[in-house]
Amino acid sequence: MQGVIGFGGFSPVRRTLIGAMEALSNSERQRRIEKARQLGRDTRLGRMHVAGPEDTEPAAPDPARPGLATGLATGLAPGLAPYCMIQAGPGQKLTRAPLAERQLAPHEVRIGVRACGVCRTDLHVIDGELPNIAYPIVPGHEVVGRIDQLGSDVFDLAIGQRVGVCWLAATCGRCRYCTTGRENLCDEASFTGYTSPGGYASHIIMDSRFVIPLTPEGDDAGDAPLLCAGLIGWRSLQRVGDGQNIGLYGFGAAAHIALQILLYQGRKVFAFTRADDHASQSFANRLGASWAGSSEERPPEDLDAAILYAPVGALLPAALRAVRKGGRVICAGIHMSDIPSFPYAILWGEREIVSIANVTRADAKSFFPAARKADVRVHTRSYPLLEAERALADLRSGRLQGAAVLIP
Ligand SMILES: [Zn+2]
Ligand SMILES: [Zn+2]
Repeated sequence: MQGVIGFGGFSPVRRTLIGAMEALSNSERQRRIEKARQLGRDTRLGRMHVAGPEDTEPAAPDPARPGLATGLATGLAPGLAPYCMIQAGPGQKLTRAPLAERQLAPHEVRIGVRACGVCRTDLHVIDGELPNIAYPIVPGHEVVGRIDQLGSDVFDLAIGQRVGVCWLAATCGRCRYCTTGRENLCDEASFTGYTSPGGYASHIIMDSRFVIPLTPEGDDAGDAPLLCAGLIGWRSLQRVGDGQNIGLYGFGAAAHIALQILLYQGRKVFAFTRADDHASQSFANRLGASWAGSSEERPPEDLDAAILYAPVGALLPAALRAVRKGGRVICAGIHMSDIPSFPYAILWGEREIVSIANVTRADAKSFFPAARKADVRVHTRSYPLLEAERALADLRSGRLQGAAVLIP
């Protein structure tokens, strides 16, 4: 992968605006505002919300707002108005819609999207399998882009800066979870492309405190899947313990990234796929798996831990049977079909079942250096954003090896 920088200038979750102002000396603040001016951008006016599909054709570009008119930060052709792919309700097709304008809140930034990965969670959103989806919804939570507008109180990010957006869009900052390092469990959290507009769009507006700074240079399409598949893979790896034999059930975007880190850590990987998915099995073998086969098979060696990336409840008893005593099965998906009943004997022996929910900003902070060390390479297939439906269909059918990425 391309290297990614750390979080040196990243704001604490609930930093007050006064604190933010005090954190910078007057001269430094003036310098940053001046720098933004020199780059020819309005630092205060952000102008976008998600319009419904019934809205009319995109408005003509406004030459008074160069960020909108030139498409400089997005790679959009000059004159092309901001747009998104939107879904009006569960099961409906995604359609192209213009992005209407709105003022940025003081702590928000607008990002010109360069690439947005396609995640299995997007399928759960599109199929209406998650509660409280904010229709009409723009999916997408694996975004790489460049900041093209800053809210008036954002001083730790800059116009033109290359950044990422992940699933976690905001948290309350006050609850028992937020104050104990578990903001992924916050009851008031909002999630990109689920309860707030996502990255299947030319632009996205985000709370600056949840934006992830990236290295200035990098492969936008290659880095996009790291923002969810990579992060969820990483969070699930924190739970496998120190065992040697690790099983990965469902060999898609997250698993192929997790495998590379596991191999770097000196472990053996056993990859499980659908019985007839020989393409994914040989993909896993090519990446260095010790064994790849059907999820209905027992692996040649007992596992110390298994991670379920496939949303199939029947895999849980299968994985329990494959792990040795004291082993752990980690469910990494946000949604799973019902788990069939199973005999207590396959759980007995101090085997454990745990789930992974969402990600934290701390996950991002620790993941990117680890991915760089492990020289993680993401296998991607790019699609034009307007062909989002085709990318989703390929993911659904299992025709993909690696990750699908949409390019506006
Ligand atoms: Zn995801
Ligand atoms: Zn909270």
